[in-house]
Amino acid sequence: MGSTEDWWQTFAEEEEEFGLLVRLLRDYLTGNLNVTRRNQHTVGELKRRSCEATTVLPKRQKLLFAVEDKNFVDQVDSPEIVDDFELDQDEVVDIKDKDANKMTLKRRASQYKIKLLNLCREGKKLLVLDIDYTLYDHKCSAENRLERMRPYLHEFLSAVYAKYDIMIWSATRMKCVELKMGRLGVLSNPNYKITALLDHLAMISVQSDSHRTFYCKPLGLIWAQLPEFYNEKNTIMFDDLGRNFVMNPQNGLIIRPFRKAHLNRTSDQELLKLTQYLLAIAELHDLSSLDHRVWELYAEANTKKRRCS
Ligand SMILES: [Mg+2]
Repeated sequence: MGSTEDWWQTFAEEEEEFGLLVRLLRDYLTGNLNVTRRNQHTVGELKRRSCEATTVLPKRQKLLFAVEDKNFVDQVDSPEIVDDFELDQDEVVDIKDKDANKMTLKRRASQYKIKLLNLCREGKKLLVLDIDYTLYDHKCSAENRLERMRPYLHEFLSAVYAKYDIMIWSATRMKCVELKMGRLGVLSNPNYKITALLDHLAMISVQSDSHRTFYCKPLGLIWAQLPEFYNEKNTIMFDDLGRNFVMNPQNGLIIRPFRKAHLNRTSDQELLKLTQYLLAIAELHDLSSLDHRVWELYAEANTKKRRCS
């Protein structure tokens, strides 16, 4: 056998499907990753890149040659286990302003292709929705998938469609996003259209000085690709995990998680209430100036105002 370098080269050529991962691993192991690239390519990043090449989800991968990075929190692995750890305001500012994180976002925005299903509509605001525990209880054991669906989902989407383009962004593979939304009838409802779907490959891993590295959903990726329609002033995102907003904290609303669907599907009214909020703020020029943490107070005050007038 030739040199180690030759072996890696041959292996990479023969195993084209794994070539990308192999090249990264080779560089990682032979020390040819410069300092910047080492910081960019954590084990999590290697797994993500491998997933792109092989469609094997990061949680199913075991990298035999790499030492697991203990500082890496992989949301795709176990979103229900990883707590929504607290990030104080200083850290949020710190994370979104870090050059390394901004570079990662810029790179991902240039690589990832948003799956557009329908035309963007001029003058509409943008609503970005998470799936698991936001619209759907994926851990519920009910055989009928409609029983895992959050109550009023179609009513909610139908009502807000008048004012918002709607995108779905989930930390899973595109096939799963399509399957879940398709089975719930979200992709074929005559009363609204979904503008686009995004999957876990559109997410980026970010680093802060005091916390572990974790994945988030940077809205900047959408704004970079569709700047004529969407920006930080007309976008709002719902997710049950607050840290997903860390690159755009002013645009995120933490929704109460929809869990235990078998117990809560007759009482959960979150989407009904959020319909009122979205319609109440729809005419505002700048959504990012709102404090979405107090959305219920805003919606209630608006309802009272309407009753009195
Ligand atoms: Mg979720």
